[in-house]
Amino acid sequence: MDNYPHFVKMDNHSQTTVVVIGGGIAGSEAAWQAACCGADVILYEMRPAVTTGAHTTGLLAEIVGDNSFGVWLSNKAQGLLKRELRQLHSLVLETADKCALPESYELLVDRQQMAATLTNALTEHPRIEIRRQQITELPSSEAVVVASGPLTSQPLARALYRAIGQPYRFFYQSSAPVVRLHNIDDRALVVGSPYDPQRDSGERNCLLDEAGFAAFCVALVEAETTIPDEVNPEELLEHYLPVEIIARRDQRLLQRGPMNPGRLIDPDSGQRPTAVVRLVPENAQGDLWRLAGMGTGLHPDDQQRVLGQLPGLEGLEIVRAGRVVRSVYVPAPAILSRSGRVRDCGGLFLAGQLIGTANYLEAAATGWLAGVNATRWACRQEPALIPPDTMLGSLIRRLTQSEVSSYCPEPVNFGMLPTARGDAGLSKEERRQLQIQKSEAALAEFIAGQGS
Ligand SMILES: Cc1cc2nc3c(=O)[nH]c(=O)nc-3n(C[C@H](O)[C@H](O)[C@H](O)COP(=O)(O)OP(=O)(O)OC[C@H]3O[C@@H](n4cnc5c(N)ncnc54)[C@H](O)[C@@H]3O)c2cc1C
Repeated sequence: MDNYPHFVKMDNHSQTTVVVIGGGIAGSEAAWQAACCGADVILYEMRPAVTTGAHTTGLLAEIVGDNSFGVWLSNKAQGLLKRELRQLHSLVLETADKCALPESYELLVDRQQMAATLTNALTEHPRIEIRRQQITELPSSEAVVVASGPLTSQPLARALYRAIGQPYRFFYQSSAPVVRLHNIDDRALVVGSPYDPQRDSGERNCLLDEAGFAAFCVALVEAETTIPDEVNPEELLEHYLPVEIIARRDQRLLQRGPMNPGRLIDPDSGQRPTAVVRLVPENAQGDLWRLAGMGTGLHPDDQQRVLGQLPGLEGLEIVRAGRVVRSVYVPAPAILSRSGRVRDCGGLFLAGQLIGTANYLEAAATGWLAGVNATRWACRQEPALIPPDTMLGSLIRRLTQSEVSSYCPEPVNFGMLPTARGDAGLSKEERRQLQIQKSEAALAEFIAGQGS
């Protein structure tokens, strides 16, 4: 922590307490940042005594969906956000880097190792006290960060509603199955990534020809899903649709989306397959695989049956079934300021998917902001405002200034960054490079302005 930028200038005698509710991705980051800024932190986490419909352990920062923190490339939005979070010393990102699985197209982590490492770091921090308790009322402390996530427990949701007065919104969110393969059939499961078939990314692919894909789609459609029949269509967001719902709507969307064969070629036929099911490594031992993009709410028995019909997956054992949950969020632009504080609500800060962030990186980013600014609030200092030219700043602008009526979770993308001046006549890639340079310069200036 020697070169940690001083995001809060605290006099040696001041004692400041920040309360964080929720020890998930955002809350863990918020607690860590507040503690590194010099606050005493009380972190409340209700698991393992009270659990959610998605978590399976009592570990902090357990990731419940894919074990992916997105692509590495910094000319992609998630890559740029990762780079910014590293510069801001994000605990979540630093831990993900430490727990990364061997080289792949994206930052894949061993989820168990990551949650255990992060839990240890927080437990051992001298300024952080972890209390395993469900919060049912908002504490009266001066600075409170609520980061209770998409599965916020009901009593807390009610208490929060009384404080902020905004009706909640919901959407269905699914996770993909994780399987163990006792025998890997090298002939059936082709090595390589659809994005970059020549590179050994540790991935395997189950290739489907036209007949195989058609049969798989029929099986998906006919299987029993846990999504209710009478679901409100507004609660099925495009980015989060389970595969069985996509198959019912238009099977071509599967081919263009999660089952896109990319540049893979079937070595037997020499042809491009009709569709693929990608298996990406899930742990360091190499015995567990996640079926990438195959988020599903199928009944677990049906998952076993439908997936077990795929070539090369006949002997699969499902160790973590895909599941679908109804996630909650508040329409953040109606209430949130750029510091992460709820307007007109004293020292109440919100972070993570509760405010409609879309993925782990964004949850960590908003946790960072809330942790730093909750400490600054308690120390009566002006908030740290991230420059809008950065990816993080653009994310915060979206969370605070979007049209409230159409607001919903949406992953970061380059369209959120302001266009760079002087980009007329440039190619898309050149314009992007200009945006990246501008965002890097803005973040460097911001960090330097805090004093190291
Ligand atoms: C089914 C599903 C699949 C997902 N798949 C992906 C994916 O593939 N990739 C991705 O990037 N993101 C995915 N997400 C989104 C992911 O959950 C978020 O990106 C991220 O975990 C949100 O972080 P968070 O800290 O806001 O919430 P969480 O990580 O859920 O943390 C919230 C914490 O608050 C605790 N809590 C709740 N209520 C209380 C209370 N009253 N008192 C004390 N503690 C409480 C919970 O136990 C939990 O530990 C998925 C989410 C779900 C639900």
